[in-house]
Amino acid sequence: AHLERIEQVDGQVNAFLARNAEQALATARDVDQRRAAREPLARLAGVPIAVKDVACTQGLTTTAGSAMLRGWVPPYDATIVRRLRQARLPILGKTNMDEFAMGSSTEHSAYGPTRNPWDLARIPGGSGGGTAAALAAFEAPLAIGSDTGGSIRQPAALTGTVGAKPTYGGVSRYGVIALASSLDQIGPCARSVVDTALLHEVIAGHDPLDSTSLDRPVPNVLAAARSGDVRGLRIGVVRELSGDGHQPGVRQRFDEALAVLEGLGAQVAEVSCPHFEYAVAAYYLILPSEASSNLARYDAMRYGLRVGPDGVPDPSAEQVMAATRDAGFGDEVKRRIILGTYALSSGYYDAYYGQAQKVRTLIAADFAAAFEEVDVLVSPTSPTTAFGIGEKIDDPLAMYLLDIATIPANLAGLPGLSVPVGLSPDDDLPVGLQVLAPAMADDRLYRVGAALE
Ligand code: GLN
Repeated sequence: AHLERIEQVDGQVNAFLARNAEQALATARDVDQRRAAREPLARLAGVPIAVKDVACTQGLTTTAGSAMLRGWVPPYDATIVRRLRQARLPILGKTNMDEFAMGSSTEHSAYGPTRNPWDLARIPGGSGGGTAAALAAFEAPLAIGSDTGGSIRQPAALTGTVGAKPTYGGVSRYGVIALASSLDQIGPCARSVVDTALLHEVIAGHDPLDSTSLDRPVPNVLAAARSGDVRGLRIGVVRELSGDGHQPGVRQRFDEALAVLEGLGAQVAEVSCPHFEYAVAAYYLILPSEASSNLARYDAMRYGLRVGPDGVPDPSAEQVMAATRDAGFGDEVKRRIILGTYALSSGYYDAYYGQAQKVRTLIAADFAAAFEEVDVLVSPTSPTTAFGIGEKIDDPLAMYLLDIATIPANLAGLPGLSVPVGLSPDDDLPVGLQVLAPAMADDRLYRVGAALE
């Protein structure tokens, strides 16, 4: 049914970059046979899933939304993909994304934008717009996303779906194409909080192949998602993330959600995180710095694209590299490589990268102080609902500023979740509420999410 649905609607939505129908059907049939033979099966065996094109899938193209990796077929599976296969979830295909996960609208994909199923003239958020749109268009019931500065949570908010960014290190990044390694986190996406928790359980847990993977028990997210009990829970509304600058309808649905939580017995209070004001500035130095270093591997020798410079008969390796990077990377990627190499260059390092790292520490300290007073923090996930395709593409700064609410969690390595809280009365488009918790307290996200569902 999902494969048929993809056939029917994906020409318009453009959520999938690669389809995997044959293999998905083979897995589904295999599960049927095992079920008939009463073999023990994992809980989600047979439930189809879409995977963001940032995770390596053996035998299935993986492009990270970039022309640099057009047609590249990885020789191995990312750990999360291996876990999906072991649990026998049929993989429907790979979903569209901003190139190398840089963006908030999926318009920076080299393969054309994904459209928001709620209104095809609008963006579905980014960078994981394909993942979120696949869920919203009922092309997949489950999906994998990646979140470096909000790429799971913001698309979830803009498409009326659920997405969780686990604690940094909670889910393996082995085999996931790196954007900014100190910020990147893989996470589960679905249309309901319980489904998201079920998937969380499949992918989370220690992986010796990822040196940043936490060797700690996975928080009991499923029990929390099933309970939704928020009685006595102390909920902090982050003043710096819920004040001015919000679309009125977003603010209205957010306030109503707070009233629901209070009605269910939670204690809601305002808390201040004064350094969040500088989070976007710090992030857009740290991310390009790490990204410029990670993207150095696309050197025309090891992966994907290689083009010789035009009209040069016997080009040097450096000339091939330059021509390939010029042809293979899109504008946003080039912009960030230039920013990152500049911020890291000697003489500027202390002024930019060094300063940004200090701000990062202050933001983590703000979180620590807030979590002395409250159990979770909340804010609108995005200041606005989905905007029009093309509307902000020429204004990178305006696009960056929209990430204000999601970025602090990545800088501090904390878990976050976006849950739908209805349609904005301004424009009838979905609004998301973000929940943030201390490291390793991912279960609290699901508790609050379930209460609002
Ligand atoms: N929108 C943010 C950015 O452009 C987040 C990206 C992400 O989480 N991958 O960097």
